[in-house]
Amino acid sequence: MNEQMLNLLQQQFSSRPELQGNPQLSAMMQALIERRSDPAPAVVEDRRLEQLEKSRARWKQYAKGLAETVRFFGDMLGACSLCWGEDSECPHCQGEGTIGSRAGDIERLLPLIEPVLAQAGLAVCPAPQGRAQTSSDDVTDVD
Ligand SMILES: [Zn+2]
Repeated sequence: MNEQMLNLLQQQFSSRPELQGNPQLSAMMQALIERRSDPAPAVVEDRRLEQLEKSRARWKQYAKGLAETVRFFGDMLGACSLCWGEDSECPHCQGEGTIGSRAGDIERLLPLIEPVLAQAGLAVCPAPQGRAQTSSDDVTDVD
């Protein structure tokens, strides 16, 4: 039913009280009026598409932020910035880039980990001469 027909029908219905008294006709008229106010399916589809596009953009931004965070911490921890040594097919390290596999960024790492170590009663101190590798002997309790 086009807009013009619906307007004519609505005028007729409004001008004839005997029709308005019929509950079935009233319900049908109300349904037609409500259907007219609903957006066309193409408009609904456009809105849905627009919402999906916005959602996709937000997720893409979120994923980009996560990837940057993984790279940031990987660099600090001396790990492969792509996979941290978890992917044997990594084009960067072929799975060899585990934490400590190369020099990390101690200047950036220490300010981040010292507070949590202090919470556990621990502190970072230089390793004894000739002992660059960490072991349980290198962890000092500072109660
Ligand atoms: Zn890797």
